[in-house]
Amino acid sequence: KKLPVDSSEELGVRQVKGACFSRVKLQPLTKPRFVSVSHEALALLGLSGEEVASDPLGPEYLSGSRLLPGSEPAAHCYCGHQFGQFAGQLGDGAAYYLGEVKVPPGQAPELLRENPSGRWEIQVKGAGLTPYSRQADGRKVLRSSIREFLCSEVMHFLGVPTTRAGSVVTSDSRVVRDVYYSGNPRHERCSVVVRIAPTFLRFGSFEIFKRADEHTGRQGPSYGRDEIRGQMMDYVIEMFYPDIQQNHPDRVERNVAFFREVMLRTARLVAQWQCVGFCHGVLNTDNMSILGLTLDYGPYGFMDSFDPDFICNASDNSGRYSYQAQPAICRWNLVKLAEALAPELPPDRAEAVMDEYLDLYNGFYLENMRKKLGLLKKDEPEDEILITELLQSMHNTGADFTNTFRSLSQISCPTEGESEGDEEPVKKATDLLLEQCSSLEELKAANKLTMDPRELAMLHSMAQSNPALFQMISDRTTIARQLDKLSKLKDLIETSQEELKAKQAEEWSRWITRYRKRLARELQGQSDVQAVQEERVRAMDSTNPRVVLRNYIAQNAIEAAENGDFSEVQRVLKVLEKPFSSQPGLEPSAWAGGGEATKQGERD
Ligand code: AMP
Ligand code: MG
Ligand code: MG
Repeated sequence: KKLPVDSSEELGVRQVKGACFSRVKLQPLTKPRFVSVSHEALALLGLSGEEVASDPLGPEYLSGSRLLPGSEPAAHCYCGHQFGQFAGQLGDGAAYYLGEVKVPPGQAPELLRENPSGRWEIQVKGAGLTPYSRQADGRKVLRSSIREFLCSEVMHFLGVPTTRAGSVVTSDSRVVRDVYYSGNPRHERCSVVVRIAPTFLRFGSFEIFKRADEHTGRQGPSYGRDEIRGQMMDYVIEMFYPDIQQNHPDRVERNVAFFREVMLRTARLVAQWQCVGFCHGVLNTDNMSILGLTLDYGPYGFMDSFDPDFICNASDNSGRYSYQAQPAICRWNLVKLAEALAPELPPDRAEAVMDEYLDLYNGFYLENMRKKLGLLKKDEPEDEILITELLQSMHNTGADFTNTFRSLSQISCPTEGESEGDEEPVKKATDLLLEQCSSLEELKAANKLTMDPRELAMLHSMAQSNPALFQMISDRTTIARQLDKLSKLKDLIETSQEELKAKQAEEWSRWITRYRKRLARELQGQSDVQAVQEERVRAMDSTNPRVVLRNYIAQNAIEAAENGDFSEVQRVLKVLEKPFSSQPGLEPSAWAGGGEATKQGERD
């Protein structure tokens, strides 16, 4: 590392001032063993998955139990805004670096474009205490490790920028966890994931320079050390944004170009999340990669039934990190990054860059969504409405996000011979989409109240009679959502399954009619209609995944692994390595369907 390293002899948990990294001592696990390895990810390091998996020392090396030759383990000091508040020093409390490896020769040229630094940082996550562990133990358990391992890899195969995961190891060492879904403390096995990325530096890495915060009074541990800020920016730009370094001899211009590129990558990333129905869950500034990668897999979730208010983090009471909040939250985080980069980044220049964010985000989102709908030949301004209405219909009918998109390629374009009033194709498509909708029972379950109805009734009358007072309630988002559910439940109770289905059919046939009219305009002026159709189906089926890592899929694999059977983790990985194609024999038929909602093993 070129950045300042803490030279203190003391290795314990503490405030670390003036340094970006601290050395860490290994804390070996008892009987570490592989649960699974990702051959694809290990290949980035020039390693053969087979060799690693069959090497008796493999699990020792890849769990921080034994030192690799040349490795200098270190943890990184970073700060962060957590749920909107500056939290001061956080740092790698449960992960540390084993070091960096040079990209082995002979790797694909596009890889070097993605990672121009020419080397990979390797981390072990869950390998024990670091100076930044605060009150916790620096360990991770099988649940959280499998979730991080699988999701890192599936995001990559879905084409979403992400940190990678090379392996997951479990052991006979145990830690006590207060298990969220059982309520009973359990002794769980310590587990370690190897993470790989060009760099794990994040927005929060630059927040160590923050002066005392007006709300929390906290100060970054390196406040006043301007020379380190400059050094860190030089390091990041030279290593990971070499084109920007080369093209901007003027330092301020270079810094603005760098910030603009981070802004652009972040906008593109969050657009991709929205388009695969992914909710990160903890978008604190310390979980925002400086390279625009998905970083830190905790209580994330892929949506089943579409709900813009989807919240995957059980401790996110206000819905700050809900699905639909993600684009605005990423913008907020970028503003915090800009503040941390001042005065290297002049505030007025940062503001001008941020003015571009929304348009850029919308552009990426629309481009991606047009592909998902198979609108390839031309852009129409009304496409945005068509997309919004699709999502609205999905929400109204409780339709499954992934499966609805996947089934769109089966909707036929109007053919030459088709008469205006021909209802058959619309009916066929409607039946197809009805299969993706929630049943009456599922909708009732999804709208179940979590608050005492009497309390809610009281709050409801208060909201009506005294809006000003209602505004003072800190939990009003939760209450508003509960009230929304209450009114939906009221309708549902008065509806039969047949009536619901008829309403859902009406909703979908309306949308499908519009969609097919739009598809007809796609074909206008095309000489080879057949070829256009085929191209459309191909593009859609390589943009709309068949399978994503639904919570219950991860949960099944976790439960099997907790009982000593690792084959399910390996099978899930195999299927998710090809999320766009069907793999008969590997993929249980239930996977492509919705599947019952399960409680997630998010708490680590
Ligand atoms: P996260 O919400 O996962 O981004 O974590 C926030 C902070 O808590 C980071 O500084 C983590 O390193 C730290 N942290 C999370 N889990 C643990 C753990 N098991 N032991 C020590 N620190 C942890
Ligand atoms: Mg984190
Ligand atoms: Mg985490």
